[in-house]
Amino acid sequence: MGFSHLAGELEQIKQQSLYRKRRVSSFFQDVKVEIDGKSVINFSSNDYLGLANHPDVIKSFKKATDKYGVGSGSAHLICGHSESHHALEQELAEFTGRDRVLLFSTGYMANMGVISALLSRGDQVFEDRLNHASLLDGGLLSGARFKRYRHNDLTDLRAKIRNKEGQSLIVTDGVFSMDGDLALLPELAKVAVDNNAWVMVDDAHGFGVLGKTGGGVVEHYGLTQQQVPILMGTLGKAFGTFGAFVAGSEVLIETLVQKARTYIFTTAMPAAIAEATRTSLKLLAADEWRREKLNLLTQRFSLGAKQLGLNLMQSNTAIQPLLIGDNFRAVDISEALLAKGFFINAIRFPTVPKGESRLRITFSANHQEQHVDQLLDALDSVSL
Ligand SMILES: *Cc1c(COP(=O)(O)O)cnc(C)c1O
Repeated sequence: MGFSHLAGELEQIKQQSLYRKRRVSSFFQDVKVEIDGKSVINFSSNDYLGLANHPDVIKSFKKATDKYGVGSGSAHLICGHSESHHALEQELAEFTGRDRVLLFSTGYMANMGVISALLSRGDQVFEDRLNHASLLDGGLLSGARFKRYRHNDLTDLRAKIRNKEGQSLIVTDGVFSMDGDLALLPELAKVAVDNNAWVMVDDAHGFGVLGKTGGGVVEHYGLTQQQVPILMGTLGKAFGTFGAFVAGSEVLIETLVQKARTYIFTTAMPAAIAEATRTSLKLLAADEWRREKLNLLTQRFSLGAKQLGLNLMQSNTAIQPLLIGDNFRAVDISEALLAKGFFINAIRFPTVPKGESRLRITFSANHQEQHVDQLLDALDSVSL
């Protein structure tokens, strides 16, 4: 039989301007990306600290391929776990101030694996409405009762968590990926204590960016392993490499080794990626100037955007979304900006709620002030 109903569905997606189109880039160097033969300034990447192209990170990667080759050859539990992976786990444990760390091949897999290893039928999971898809999917996969609370709404969470049964887990993004605001983590930790629940934070966009040494949202708030027992971070964003990790107690990590199916049944990240990440971790922790520069650029943009009367969302991080609303308009503006030399994706449903399409503008420590000013000029000239 044919795929005619699928073709119909695709047509519907197109008609609502929800169709996704991949941009093929032929070049990716710091904040410049080449699309359709044209070099543009990239304001869509999550390479916040500009480490993805750092010469030392690249050098570590290349050197490690001499020793290990490219592919890791198998899962961690078979023969894919190298000295480099092991050293990276120990260094991340030290960096996060947690007992132990476990690497995962991607952040998506980490979230799916952790939640489904810790919960099952009879338990309950409480998730912020704006949580990343991988956290929501992990909660659904676990078989626990799945409850979403209104964004950063402690009153709503407290009301929902009251009649709990089994083990409860509160799950949140640290920095909300499409909004740029922070979770109210100290308050969530308090709700957890009051209700004998666990807290899990996905700090994909906080690590490297928040906290004096880049320790992310938990460093920003000064929260311990006891207050936030399950800490997850990704390596593909501020670290500039690839993969993810979970940090926590010995018992937590050993449980994940034994039970997290997305850890057990997948190929380990290449050892050369682990080596590159060890170098990027050193840079991330030591180079405070990257965070300072990122903050300066972000503030410069936010101030300029306000002066222009742009509909900027409430965020103090390097994620500075402009709320557009309509799907068609968001795509049109994104295209107009591309024509002017700026790559900014139009983010639409289901990544964000319906009617809340936006331009998700992100900054990197490698942007220059003049890039920010040029972007503000371009935003002023396209009809917003
Ligand atoms: C990017 C992201 C993930 C997924 O991480 P990958 O390593 O890209 O799979 C998970 N959670 C959040 C909040 C993210 O932004």
